[in-house]
Amino acid sequence: MTFDWNAHRFSGGVLALDLANTVIFRENPERLLDRFGDLVELPRFAEAAAIFRIGEWGEVQFHPPLAQKGIEALIGIREAINRLFRGAAREDGLKAEHLSAFLRLGSDLVCNEPEERDLRLPNLSEKKRELSLGAAAFLSAISLLEPARLERIKICPNCHWLYFDESRNRSRRWCDMNVCGNRAKARRHYNRNVKQAGNNHA
Ligand SMILES: [Zn+2]
Repeated sequence: MTFDWNAHRFSGGVLALDLANTVIFRENPERLLDRFGDLVELPRFAEAAAIFRIGEWGEVQFHPPLAQKGIEALIGIREAINRLFRGAAREDGLKAEHLSAFLRLGSDLVCNEPEERDLRLPNLSEKKRELSLGAAAFLSAISLLEPARLERIKICPNCHWLYFDESRNRSRRWCDMNVCGNRAKARRHYNRNVKQAGNNHA
């Protein structure tokens, strides 16, 4: 296994957006890559998410789906979260079609949770919680619908990930300055040099 679910993969800042970001380059069909194309990544993501999202959920265990139906439901809510918040980040507002699909799929996921589970929105409760990954992502997404939080959701211009900008004046430009910010800087530098070289030869 060479793929590492490291801090960079959790640049979304909240579970809902991290899940949406398991697809890279969403706005470029030629480069688009779904990390869940290989299903062994599902439990690995769930395990890493419990570590990186401890600030959102406190101590938690996310159960990845095992059966085909559960996997389809997880991918369904992932895509619904992506459509809903990508539209919001583009300042299109929340569209009826996207919001209703999100609520419908989320309602099914919540309905399938075992009775004893605590379905409050993400919080740092003292008791360790256990949730299915899909239901947890839905609850995480619900807590983003509040207008003050919704307006902090942005799209990274480099990798097209969604991220929650917690900076005081909402000035964050990249999902991760150390990765996407630096790549953009390197590209600008390269383009400038190519242009200069071209001028010298003219
Ligand atoms: Zn990025």
